[in-house]
Amino acid sequence: MTSASSTGGGVWAEIFGQTRSVETLKRAVAAAHPDAEHREWFTNSWLITGPPGSGRSNCAYAFAAALLCPNNGCGTCPSCRQVAARTHPDLTAVATETAIINIDTARSLVERAWLAPTVSDYRVIVVEDADRMVQRTSNTLLKAIEEPTSTTVWVMCAPSRADLLPTIRSRVREVSLTTPSPEEVAQLLVSRHGGTPERALRAAEEAQSHVGMASRLVTTPEAWSRRDRALQGVLALSGVGDAARKAADWVAIAEEDGKAAAADRDAKERAETFRALGLEPDATIPRQLRGIFRELETHQKRRAKRATLDGVDRILTDVSSLWRDVLVTALGASPRLINERRRPEIESVAASSSPAHILANIEAVAVARQRLAANVPPALALEELLVGAVIGHRATGETAS
Ligand SMILES: [Zn+2]
Repeated sequence: MTSASSTGGGVWAEIFGQTRSVETLKRAVAAAHPDAEHREWFTNSWLITGPPGSGRSNCAYAFAAALLCPNNGCGTCPSCRQVAARTHPDLTAVATETAIINIDTARSLVERAWLAPTVSDYRVIVVEDADRMVQRTSNTLLKAIEEPTSTTVWVMCAPSRADLLPTIRSRVREVSLTTPSPEEVAQLLVSRHGGTPERALRAAEEAQSHVGMASRLVTTPEAWSRRDRALQGVLALSGVGDAARKAADWVAIAEEDGKAAAADRDAKERAETFRALGLEPDATIPRQLRGIFRELETHQKRRAKRATLDGVDRILTDVSSLWRDVLVTALGASPRLINERRRPEIESVAASSSPAHILANIEAVAVARQRLAANVPPALALEELLVGAVIGHRATGETAS
């Protein structure tokens, strides 16, 4: 189902275009009741898969909230608000501050998995990027996931089932999310943020249906202009010096973008925590609650270290989309482009490049990603990517204009 409407109320209201998956999870919540009729239908280990931006972690937290709420996820009770603020005592949220979930984190998760819930029927452990668990940590987690305590529920998120180790893969029930169409995302943007349908559609297309990114484009003009700046001139680099300058510019953009995105998210989390604790937005924080805010700040500082990498990742996604547009144009297909606004430039590069050269550029982005994952400094990985593009261009005897 790809309905543009959200699915039901309460904690599910924010999950968009995933009717079938939400139905599955709601059924699981109903079966999770200790005295439910189809208790056997419930399982303790879940995997939510879907492409970036499909809302994997939103879905995981909605599921967690519904399991912990006395009213199956009303969205308004203290329990639901605590899940939204990630402060619920029976919720363990493993977000990705570091690129890899380390063994200590894995061990403490396993320890917590054995504890009985304190206020709810269940203890829920959400692992936002289960694909980033390395083999050793996976083995530590395996036993806990394999034979979970009946009151502990694991909710893992990953791009696909194949991203998990086979041993874990075989023990989880998968719920796979679909990518909404740009038109559906555009409709959502207009209803949430207003603005014209044309502008919303452009944002949805350029964000490749990534709801969070598309929302950011329509609500933050600076984010949109940074995207434009990042793509400016990438298709027509004229020499190695040009490539090096562009790479340096990309790093600067990634830093700015990462910082701005982190600031937006930090402010939102802080506001959410105020709400969850029943404080007015501009209230002074009572002394006994200061620890909670200190913990939040520590968490945000740790995450800030990843902000530039997230910014680089967004640039790489955008650059891939640009070369994908060049490729479909060169192959003679003429659908709407992701970067429709750059059509003239894309058509001109498509006319003067060989498919081999275009594919090499798409491949080079994937290589840059691997280099970054192996901790190569962003400035270096990006320069290699762009210098490689210029040299590849000369090697195939083409001109950039
Ligand atoms: Zn509730």
